[in-house]
Amino acid sequence: MTIEIQIFHLPDFFALLNLISIYRQFVNIKSTNMSIYLDNAATTQLDREVFEAMTPYLLQNFGNPSSHHVHGRVVKNAIENARETIADLLNASPNEIVFTSGGTEADNTAILSSVRSHQIKHVITTPFEHHAVLHTLEALKNNGEIKLSFINIDSRGNLDINHLDNLLKNNTRSLVSVMHANNEIGNLNNIELIGEVCKSRGALFHSDTVQTMGHYRHDLSTLNAHFIAASAHKFHGPKGIGFIYCRDGIQLSQLLHGGSQERKQRAGTENIHGIIGLAKALEIAYRDIDGHRAYVQKLKNRMITKLQEQIGDVQFNGNSAIADKSLYTVLSASLPVNHASGDLLTYLDQNDISVSGGSACSTGSASHVLQAIGADTFRNTIRFSFSKFNTAEEIDYTVEKLSALYKAIAA
Ligand code: PLP
Repeated sequence: MTIEIQIFHLPDFFALLNLISIYRQFVNIKSTNMSIYLDNAATTQLDREVFEAMTPYLLQNFGNPSSHHVHGRVVKNAIENARETIADLLNASPNEIVFTSGGTEADNTAILSSVRSHQIKHVITTPFEHHAVLHTLEALKNNGEIKLSFINIDSRGNLDINHLDNLLKNNTRSLVSVMHANNEIGNLNNIELIGEVCKSRGALFHSDTVQTMGHYRHDLSTLNAHFIAASAHKFHGPKGIGFIYCRDGIQLSQLLHGGSQERKQRAGTENIHGIIGLAKALEIAYRDIDGHRAYVQKLKNRMITKLQEQIGDVQFNGNSAIADKSLYTVLSASLPVNHASGDLLTYLDQNDISVSGGSACSTGSASHVLQAIGADTFRNTIRFSFSKFNTAEEIDYTVEKLSALYKAIAA
């Protein structure tokens, strides 16, 4: 009888070790336990202070604000205090703040109110609005209720304000809906100027401020907007709560019919803990706004520099890399596509780094925002979005991971 003993050939053994090390480097086995969240434009982590403000309204103060007994009165007062807090921070009056389920409902309410209560038959918008605006407008257009016009933009996504003025000249009874900042590329639009143009032409103006509320100061006493939309989960508040600001004298048309909550402007039992959380989150945001902005802008700058140094061939979409023309919380970067790089989002996810895409490569259908500015959708687009909970170490680690992948591909 012969016994065969297989002895590992030494060069094969080293090749195997090498393969394992490459595998460890690229697939979900990390030398650190870092879990990195860089998708803060999608949603943000709830602030602990906000959570603590909310819990009494989940556990003890559970009454229905429409009830006439003490349980109802306690929460009714809390809602009105929250409304006052928000109005004070924004230089608005409390009756101009109506709570909604979030940004989508606020956008829908602004647009539908303009059409149903203010006889608007023409809406002017941009091709890069959030779908909460675009899909609502497209539905109205397909229904024959409005004519829809788009403001011309350049390849960075800058709006042609003269074109807006010309569109308004011929259609004075219009609604203009322009977002304050774009959620994919971060471009900031000059809503003060747009408000002035609308005022001079007698048009209604709605701005989706979902990405800037809590990150920039809004003074609604000077902004010529009739409506703005906000959502708490974008500034460390809870999900499922937001508000529409509707300027005094402008009528809202109810999307939901039922009870007489929110002064008959939005039916349904109020999301009390959400409202408390929303007001607390905005209070904290305004309390810390300057330090927060400086800190997060530094993280973004670090990401820009590191990507340029370590990847080299990186493009930034729109005004994303221009500090005073973009959200300090968002950076949209396009990296080269290489067959071996595959889906960058999956690669980062496997390495416990959460980011968003927005390009054809990641979702199978090109982002309407990148298409609108004519960006090169054949590259890999990553949206990094930052918050006060991120660190410089996380930025460095993320770029190292990306750079290691591109180096390995090139080798
Ligand atoms: N508008 C913009 C610009 C957004 O970024 C979002 C959310 O991603 C929305 C509207 C919708 O807000 P919500 O998730 O609260 O419905």
